[in-house]
Amino acid sequence: MEFIKILNLYPAMNNIGKTKDVVYGLWADGTLAYYNQAWIEFARQNGADSDFLEQWSLGRSVYDAIPEEILSFYQNLFNSVLNEIPGDEHTPVQHCYECSSPETFRKFQMTLYPLQAQFDQAILVVNSILVERSHEQKCIQPTDPISERYLSLHDLLTQCIYCRKFQRNNDEHQWDWIPEWILDQPRNTSHSLCHYCKEHYFSKTGFTI
Ligand SMILES: [Zn+2]
Repeated sequence: MEFIKILNLYPAMNNIGKTKDVVYGLWADGTLAYYNQAWIEFARQNGADSDFLEQWSLGRSVYDAIPEEILSFYQNLFNSVLNEIPGDEHTPVQHCYECSSPETFRKFQMTLYPLQAQFDQAILVVNSILVERSHEQKCIQPTDPISERYLSLHDLLTQCIYCRKFQRNNDEHQWDWIPEWILDQPRNTSHSLCHYCKEHYFSKTGFTI
């Protein structure tokens, strides 16, 4: 069954195509089944060109876009939604995450709804903006891109997947906001999670990362 037909079985979700929330739909195996106009606009605002949008056509696995370090977390999160009962009145599964741009600090709330029609199971993922403000307002001071301060012994830079800060090489707890490297990510960047994001975004969910 087409995803949109399944969605139409849930009248409360009729306006999802027009909302400013970034919405996408997944089949049970994690492949992309649907996205709304706001999803396309968000991708464009964040530098996606027509090649990117072509690569991310329906049928692509969303797991291809999730870094390995947090892949099992998202697999568990999506699978937990599939175990929920569609249309149930209880609070849906939610997860907060940070997705900042070089200019703006942004925090989103992901709300996940299970959908079902006969034997087809799917998930509707609604991403609503919780916080959007300049980095100055959040007192994040930009730091200069001085490679010697951040390069590890293996000549790698370590960036947090969520807040996108870079880890200092002489203090594992110090992570800095470096706008130049967010705009134009160095090739030798590896990914991890800073202690703040690990605690703040993942510790309450009950899923391991
Ligand atoms: Zn972080």
